[in-house]
Amino acid sequence: MAGKSLQDSLSLISVDQWGAIARLAATEDGRHEIAAIFDGGRFPFLEAYRRFLNIFAEADFQVRSLRDYRAGAPDSRCVVLYHDVHCWDVLCALGLMIENHRRGLSSTFFVNWDFAPEDVVYRDAFRTLIHMGDGVHDEIGLHAAPVPSWLRMEAFGGDDEAFLAWVNSSQAEEDLKVIVTGNGLTSFGVVSLQEVHEASQCRLAAQVEAVRAEYPSLAHMNAHGDDAGRLLNRLFNKTEDVRFRDLHCGFFVTEEMCAACGLQDTVMTYQRRNAALIRHIWEPQIAADMPRLLPPLLAEGEPRFVLNHPLGFADGRLKV
Ligand SMILES: [Zn+2]
Repeated sequence: MAGKSLQDSLSLISVDQWGAIARLAATEDGRHEIAAIFDGGRFPFLEAYRRFLNIFAEADFQVRSLRDYRAGAPDSRCVVLYHDVHCWDVLCALGLMIENHRRGLSSTFFVNWDFAPEDVVYRDAFRTLIHMGDGVHDEIGLHAAPVPSWLRMEAFGGDDEAFLAWVNSSQAEEDLKVIVTGNGLTSFGVVSLQEVHEASQCRLAAQVEAVRAEYPSLAHMNAHGDDAGRLLNRLFNKTEDVRFRDLHCGFFVTEEMCAACGLQDTVMTYQRRNAALIRHIWEPQIAADMPRLLPPLLAEGEPRFVLNHPLGFADGRLKV
C-alpha cells in the first residue's frame, strides 16, 4: 500500500512543477496563491485532519510544536503534534500546515531532506513546505537516519535500485552483522563500526547544513525508520559494544552527534527524559486506532507526543 500511495501522491505534481511551486512559495503573493489551493472542499484529507484536530480541541488540549513545548511553561493539557514528512507526504503536509495557520495552532514538520535519492529529487517539494511556514506557528525539523542514509547515498552511491535489492536480500543482514561485530568485509568494502559512525555523522551534518540554508533556526530532529535501520537496530541490540550503548533507539544518533551539528534535541531524547510525562508516540501501524485511543488517554490530562504521517489522512491509514 505504501508504494501505491507514494506513486499516487507524487504523480499529482511533477518534479518540474514542484520547482515552479517552490519559486512561487518564495514570494508573499505566491504563498497566498498556494494557500488558496486548499480553500473549500477540494481535498477530502483536510476534512479528516480537521476532525482529528477536533479530538484535541474537545479534550481542551493545546496543540504545540516541539519548539513551543520546550520554550513554554509546563502545561499538562498540551499535545506536541509532529509530522514526519517524506517526499510522498509533502502535498498533504502543505494542507495540514495551512490548516494549522487558520486555526492558530503550531506543530513541527520533520522533513526527510536528502535522506535518499528520491528525497534529493524532491528537494523543491520540501523547500515549498519550508517557505510556506509562517515563522510563528510552524517549526521545521529534520527527519533523519544517518546510517541508513549513508548506506543509500554513499555505500550504494545513490543507486537505490541496488540498495533496495540488497536490503531485501539476506546479504543485508550478513553485511550489517559484519559492521556491528567489526569482523570481516562487507559486500561494499571494508567498513568498521567507527567508520560508519564517522561517515554517518558527516551525513547528518550535511543534511543539517542543507536544511539550515532554507531554515536557519533548525533545532530538532526525529529519527526515520526504514528497512535498513530496522535491521540494523535488531542486530545492534544484540551487541555488547559499550561505545554505542547510549544510542537512541538504535538509529545511531547520539546526543553528541546532535550537539556537534548544533541541534538541540531529538524527539527520542524528550521521550527518554520525560518518560513519566510522555507516554505515547504513535507509529503508523496503529494510526488507524488513534481516533479511538486518543480521547481516553487525553482524559488523563497528561502531555502527549503524537506522531503523524501526513499522507495517512489521504490514503486511508488514518480514519477519522
Ligand atoms: Zn520516516
